[in-house]
Amino acid sequence: MYRTHNNGELRAENNNTKVTLSGWVQKIRDKGFMVWVDLRDRYGITQLIFDEERTPKEVMDKASQLGREFVIQVTGTVIERESKNPNIPTGDIEILVSEVIVLNTSLTPPFTIEDNTDGGEDLRMKYRYLDLRRKPVRNNLVFRHKVTMAVRNYLSEKDFVEVETPYLIKSTPEGARDFVVPSRMNEGQFYALPQSPQTFKQLLMVGGMDKYFQIVKCFRDEDLRADRQPEFTQIDCEMAFVEQEDILNTFEGLTKHLLKEINGVDVEKFPRMTYDEAMRRYGNDKPDIRFGMEFGELNDVAQHKDFKVFNSAELVVGIAIPGGNQYSRKEIDKLIDWVKRPQIGALGMVYVKCNEDGSYKSSVDKFYDQEDLAKWAEATGAQAGDLICVLSGEANKTRAQLSALRMEMAERLELRKVDEFAPLWVIDFPLLEWDEETNRYHAMHHPFTSPKPGQMELLKTNPGAVKANAYDLVLNGNEIGGGSIRIHDKEVQSKMFDYLGFTPEEAIAQFGFLMDAFQYGAPPHGGIAFGLDRLVAILGGQETIRDFIAFPKNNAGRDVMIDAPAPIDEQQLNELNLNITIKD
Ligand code: ASP
Repeated sequence: MYRTHNNGELRAENNNTKVTLSGWVQKIRDKGFMVWVDLRDRYGITQLIFDEERTPKEVMDKASQLGREFVIQVTGTVIERESKNPNIPTGDIEILVSEVIVLNTSLTPPFTIEDNTDGGEDLRMKYRYLDLRRKPVRNNLVFRHKVTMAVRNYLSEKDFVEVETPYLIKSTPEGARDFVVPSRMNEGQFYALPQSPQTFKQLLMVGGMDKYFQIVKCFRDEDLRADRQPEFTQIDCEMAFVEQEDILNTFEGLTKHLLKEINGVDVEKFPRMTYDEAMRRYGNDKPDIRFGMEFGELNDVAQHKDFKVFNSAELVVGIAIPGGNQYSRKEIDKLIDWVKRPQIGALGMVYVKCNEDGSYKSSVDKFYDQEDLAKWAEATGAQAGDLICVLSGEANKTRAQLSALRMEMAERLELRKVDEFAPLWVIDFPLLEWDEETNRYHAMHHPFTSPKPGQMELLKTNPGAVKANAYDLVLNGNEIGGGSIRIHDKEVQSKMFDYLGFTPEEAIAQFGFLMDAFQYGAPPHGGIAFGLDRLVAILGGQETIRDFIAFPKNNAGRDVMIDAPAPIDEQQLNELNLNITIKD
């Protein structure tokens, strides 16, 4: 038997018990006549003591030959520790070792395997199996496990059935780019890895499955932005015979359950906000509502004076930064530079200092008097002591820029508290989104999303105004889930493809199977998918999803541990009918 106990469980009440422990050597302190070893496993650390006076000589000798990360098995007696360590649960005891077996040796690890390691990200990823031995990383994976178990239990309890859908499917051009897999047996043909199980879950509804979920890997070959993974995990869900209200209630229930179960937090009924309102008040379809700094639109009070920049703008909009009146000229200039960075793209920023005595001092005093500025303060909710920051220009762009500033300031002012949770539903998304590159409308969510009742006609006259039965669940400024009520009628679906610019042939070639299925009694249905990686990170109070994935890819989409992607040999290429000659 390798162990009678783990390294996290022995306490003072176990004193004088003979135990066997196994684990990794974390730390060795060798005084010659006395050797202490910290023995680590998944459960904790137990201190071992080898003492010349009490430990057999050959065991003493072995102790002096141990190295960091050796795997050992020891037998000994639990004794009270002379100098206790209140920082670890096993800190009152140590093991007086009588036998030691080296189960495996180890090279010196390339970084220290401690909570605070000296290893940089790249090194830790290359030796991820060593990184996993560190408590913070291990805890994150255990945390993820807890969340997925809570999800599974909750949904299963509510009669959802977890069904696996295939990973080798057909490529569809809508949405992101597909990862493709060449088929050996079908020359010149390719599978695609699913971007989501969307069509399959809809077919499960046609198949009468009624309530489906799956914790499932999805694959998107997108240019990698920070903290995006080419493969990621969704909690994918679908229900039949439901309206939007049913979906929102069901998954609000799931989210509340998770917040309670995992974080011990009770939240009230989730607020709902239309997409238009979210854009107007926060300039963002995933607003962080843990703090204020709501947008104040200033067109009415700032235009038609002599300030040309504002007069020619589609939107003039500002936010009040709490306490910002304190900022020095230099700090404000830095802020202006910040919004002018290419990533944000503002051309400039107008500001108003709201003085403690109720007066105002602005960067545009030439054009606006105290009375004007008081109106700005009213519109932005600014108090004495605040700084009003105003941007202007084309409405969508300006909102996005001001939203970036709002988030940045909240970060700087430490208003984004990790242990505060503010979920909300954003509903009534536009059905379509104009794509500048291709010069046509795309489905904002996906082409299976149904328009709001009675809006099908509007598609012909004002497509951009059509709203969809689509919703996002937003938590602390992150979209953690999104879904829609689907089209379940063949005619409507083929009309939708038509509006989206598919020829009938293309629609049939790509989605004929779905439209065929709709002809055999497809029930009304809808669903949602949560991004599990991000959800876990937020519940865990952290930002980076990589930290919650056992074997993540780096920002270039590479797995640096196994060194993938990698070339394949010529014979494999031939078998796959990818007769490309490899250049040396
Ligand atoms: N399949 C969608 C997505 O991955 C979610 C849904 O509509 O249920 O975003």
